[in-house]
Amino acid sequence: MESNNYNDPSMIGGCSVPVRVNRKSKPEPTVVEINGIQIGSSEVVIIAGPCAVENHEQLLETAKAVKTAGGALLRGGAFKPRSSPYNFQGLGEEGVKMLRDVSKEIGLPFVTEVMDTRMVEFVAEYADMLQIGSRNMHNYPLLKEVGRLHKPILLKRGMMATIEEFLLSAEYILNQGNEQVVLCERGIRTFETTTRNTLDLSAVPMLKHLSHLPVIVDPSHGTGHRWMVPTMAKAAVAAGADGLIMEVHYKPEEALCDGFQSLSPDEFSRLMSDLQKIAHAVGREILMPQPSHL
Ligand code: PEP
Ligand code: MN
Repeated sequence: MESNNYNDPSMIGGCSVPVRVNRKSKPEPTVVEINGIQIGSSEVVIIAGPCAVENHEQLLETAKAVKTAGGALLRGGAFKPRSSPYNFQGLGEEGVKMLRDVSKEIGLPFVTEVMDTRMVEFVAEYADMLQIGSRNMHNYPLLKEVGRLHKPILLKRGMMATIEEFLLSAEYILNQGNEQVVLCERGIRTFETTTRNTLDLSAVPMLKHLSHLPVIVDPSHGTGHRWMVPTMAKAAVAAGADGLIMEVHYKPEEALCDGFQSLSPDEFSRLMSDLQKIAHAVGREILMPQPSHL
């Protein structure tokens, strides 16, 4: 790795930490604010929703379930990075508008992925937070583009990225002036095949040790198994995560994308109360804005 003056000279286990994300240049933790919801404080923020926006009913019913169980933010993909070009690619612009409408109706801010520099302006006009997905963590023009926004960014770890590469990608965003970045561990590729990815929970304390940025965990893509999500979600909170992002679908068996790793509303609701116990055990709280029955 080329080193320059902007890289911290002290190496931690072979990782040189770039200056803007480095905890040494900003000892106090960064708190990212998304429409009144803070990520990076003592409260753990739960983001949940479908993998992909499929239609109005699916999104509305799932968002209601998320809100009712106490979720703080809604997730949903409109531009989907699918491995196969023949799989459902998402509703695109229509999906982003649907997210905005449902988000307003239910009263949950939302995060959605942007995959293309040409769509950044459009997505930023509607979304409360923009997601850069795992496959785009190395897309430097896209990182620079979202770095020019005044909007929170959820940056997911590349599936084959080291911690150092992950932090360098975050540095691209901060370097353009946008310091509202949340890091997300979502599993990495290893030789293991029983899980979709290997959820690297050791990344949580390491990232928080090296950087001042908030760190959240995605146990849905991190495991690829619905039954494993609650266990790894609880482990992530115990490991010090500032939040979780999870896939929830009102009818997981009918989902067009990632139903096998999506929680049902009942499973999500049960998990929320279990998470509160884990959070208390590590001196934190799960942020539950206004759980309300809709
Ligand atoms: C997602 O969260 O919708 C997603 C596609 O995840 P990842 O980029 O981590 O694969
Ligand atoms: Mn998914």
